[in-house]
Amino acid sequence: MFKFLQQVSNYAKHTILAGQYIGQGLSVTFDHMHRRPVTVQYPYEKLIPSERFRGRIHFEFDKCISCEVCVRVCPINLPVVDWEFNQEFKKKELKHYSIDFGVCIFCGNCVEFCPTNCLSFTEEYELSVYDRHELNFDSVALGRLPEKVTLNLMVTALRELVYLPKDVLNPHGIPADEHRAGLLPSEMLEQAREDKDDVN
Ligand code: SF4
Ligand code: SF4
Repeated sequence: MFKFLQQVSNYAKHTILAGQYIGQGLSVTFDHMHRRPVTVQYPYEKLIPSERFRGRIHFEFDKCISCEVCVRVCPINLPVVDWEFNQEFKKKELKHYSIDFGVCIFCGNCVEFCPTNCLSFTEEYELSVYDRHELNFDSVALGRLPEKVTLNLMVTALRELVYLPKDVLNPHGIPADEHRAGLLPSEMLEQAREDKDDVN
């Protein structure tokens, strides 16, 4: 009889514990239902890179004095500075300059130490290619300015994760009714329906 009562007591304890665990799990689920979605609908939405973002390097050919400081400070001697000595003007003349972004670790040494500031980081991070040799940018490709996320009419720029409100470090902490730079997927659908109705 005592053994039976002990079994019933154990069963009841485990039932209560199971109920507690289910309650804990559901509390996490309900907590998430009150949060705003933070998933970026790439490529229709893009995050605005931070001000000191280390994206693809921009190079200004006219400013370069072929000093090769960028090569010496680079941990892998990556930049290729191809110059010739101009006998007439007694100075170096830059012919070609290139950086292979398939190898670059974006440490920023070359940008930091260039004496003429002809190197700078851009906010471009979409560097995926089919052939890795395409990531070897010559001076023409390096001189191209990147397209700003905020100026691209085809993309909704989002401020989350980089431009959070003051004292908020976690995007989950933003109330659902806080102003949002972009539309939620449900709002996009709603807007698309309205646009369609207007056309009809
Ligand atoms: S960012 Fe760093 S690794 Fe890339 S080229 Fe400059 S110094 Fe070299
Ligand atoms: S450090 Fe600057 S100026 Fe000197 S070679 Fe490199 S890019 Fe040109």
